[in-house]
Amino acid sequence: MSGRYAIVCIDDEETILESLSMELAGRFPGVDLELLQDNADAEGLIGSLLAAGVEVPVVVCDYIMPGRRGDAVLAAVHRLAPAARTIMLTGQSNLEGVTHAINHANLYRYIAKPWNKEDLALTLQGALESYIQEATIQRQNQALVALNDGLERKVAERTEALRAANANLTEANRKIGEYLEIIDRQVLICRINRAGLVTYASEAFCRRSGYTRADLIGLNYWHALYSATTETLMREILARIEAGAGWEGEILHQCRNGEYYWARETIAPDVGEHGAVIGFTSIRQDITDKKAVEALSVTDPLTGLANRRQFQQVLEGEIARASRGARALAFCLVDVDHFKAYNDHYGHAAGDKVLQRLGRLLTDTFRRSTDFTFRIGGEEFALLFPVRDSAEAATTAAELVALVEAQAIVHAFGSPGPHLTISMGVRVISPREQPLDVDRIFQEADALLYQAKHEGRNRYVLGGEAVAAAPASSGDA
Ligand code: GH3
Ligand code: MG
Ligand code: MG
Repeated sequence: MSGRYAIVCIDDEETILESLSMELAGRFPGVDLELLQDNADAEGLIGSLLAAGVEVPVVVCDYIMPGRRGDAVLAAVHRLAPAARTIMLTGQSNLEGVTHAINHANLYRYIAKPWNKEDLALTLQGALESYIQEATIQRQNQALVALNDGLERKVAERTEALRAANANLTEANRKIGEYLEIIDRQVLICRINRAGLVTYASEAFCRRSGYTRADLIGLNYWHALYSATTETLMREILARIEAGAGWEGEILHQCRNGEYYWARETIAPDVGEHGAVIGFTSIRQDITDKKAVEALSVTDPLTGLANRRQFQQVLEGEIARASRGARALAFCLVDVDHFKAYNDHYGHAAGDKVLQRLGRLLTDTFRRSTDFTFRIGGEEFALLFPVRDSAEAATTAAELVALVEAQAIVHAFGSPGPHLTISMGVRVISPREQPLDVDRIFQEADALLYQAKHEGRNRYVLGGEAVAAAPASSGDA
């Protein structure tokens, strides 16, 4: 309950007002009693009460009065304060006035004069409570309406936000679908389960391998899609996947029609709900064209050194020159020690970096116009350079072995030491050595390299014999 209340009593007879005052004063705590004798002031009084924030819950009004009769006064009051309970006091039962008051003043009750005190007090009490109750309900209703409005606004806002989010999601989904389609069409992807069977193949993969998707699904990947030349690679890849690691590298694959294609491939394990490896996914890029260009070119793309192709030509030419008795030559095969372990531990990319670094080291060391450096295989290099004698070849080889170790490239699984090392087979070709067969020279150098490995690595083994030629006979040097 808020605000102040006033019960207004209007009667032209002062004695009546006095007895009302006596009977009612103090009867309703917190409620003032306003007595008005001149009913012409009724609207003025009620208007000023309302303006002052005082609510008028009950108006008691005499019926027979000079000027206006009670029903007219109450009708006017009702227009000003529609919620006020109006009660009419009437000396004689005047049905017409009561009816008028009921119709125009929403008459709450009429009380006959002389009234029963208790009846009057109870009637006013009832009117007051009824007013307050109605006002309370109205306030609660207003609060409910406000709450409802707020809720409706919130619901509308949320609905809008949801609609917007939904629209975004739909758009994102559409885009993802589009991207997936592009990937499916352009990227060679296949997924293989633990049993080695294909469970998914992209459209691009089907196209490249020459199978339909229906043919591929359920096909044994290793048997049908792997060329036999990569058997060891298959074991390496499977071991890495089992260990939860991935693999990256270049693989030769076979198509359905027997044709081969080169792929740069990334293989990643697929992990199931409980963290167990359930298979793997292969994403590859067709690099057959790049390989073809490489095959024609004379330089190795990774290290920039001359490649095996050029090696073959140079070796033949230089050995032929040596056989003409021009000068002694050192032919070295260089192989990185425990490089597979390096790759396995530090990754293929790190392995590639090491190969590049070794390549630079070789070109920096063997820089004379008569020196040749080659990358002839994965981690195998070849060197060809003129020497005075075997002793010089030995010194140079020893220096190179030491130089590589001094790079201090950490190799946790290396041996004999904690750093990456090389082994060398050095075949010295003496001037006028006969017969000089390129393949035989190569095989001998390879055997020397094998011996260096066998003897503990990080070393060279030298074979062949060359003594320094007399200055007069070194015309071609
Ligand atoms: P060893 O000391 O007996 O020579 O042992 P190794 O592990 O070096 O020899 P192995 O021939 O078993 O392995 C050679 C490894 O070289 C296999 C492969 O992982 C790695 N390899 C070959 N070509 C490349 C390449 O182009 N890049 C990288 N990163 N690694 C290569
Ligand atoms: Mg090797
Ligand atoms: Mg090696």
